Amino acid sequence: MTDGDILRAFLATHDANCPQCAYQLRGVESEKCPECGRTIELQVQPAAPRMAPWLFALIFTSIFGGFHWIMLIAFGVSGLLYYGSLSVILSDSVLYLIGSIPYAITLPLLIARRRAFQRRTIRRQWVWSALLVFAYVVLETIWISLMFFLF
Ligand SMILES: [Zn+2]
Repeated sequence: MTDGDILRAFLATHDANCPQCAYQLRGVESEKCPECGRTIELQVQPAAPRMAPWLFALIFTSIFGGFHWIMLIAFGVSGLLYYGSLSVILSDSVLYLIGSIPYAITLPLLIARRRAFQRRTIRRQWVWSALLVFAYVVLETIWISLMFFLF
C-alpha cells in the first residue's frame, strides 16, 4: 500500500479540507487538490500543539528585552547625532547595554532550543516559563533601582 493509496482510502471515508484553499477533499482520487492544485499528504501531528508555555516565555523575553534594545538604539543614534562622540554614547547607554544582556542571551536560546524545551512535560514547561518571567521581574527591579541610585 503506497502513501497515495492510504491518502485515497482516507479521503474516501473522511471529510477533510485542503489546507491551502479549504476545498472539501472527500472522495478525491488524486494526490493534488482539484481546486488549487496543491499536493496533499497525510501527516502525523499532535492533536493540539503545546505552544503556550514557550510563547509565554518568548513574549515576555521580547517585551523586557525589546524595551532595553529600543532604548539602547535610541541612545546610540541620538548620542551619535547630537554629540557625535562614541564616549558620550557609551556613558549614556551603558546601563541599557547591561540591562539588555540577559535578554540577548535568553532570546536566541529560547528560539534555538524550542524543541528541547517542548520535549519536557507541560508542567515543567510552565514552571520554567514562570521562573524565567520571575527572574526578569527581579532583574528589572534591580536594574531600575540602579538607575535611581546612580542618577
Ligand atoms: Zn486546494
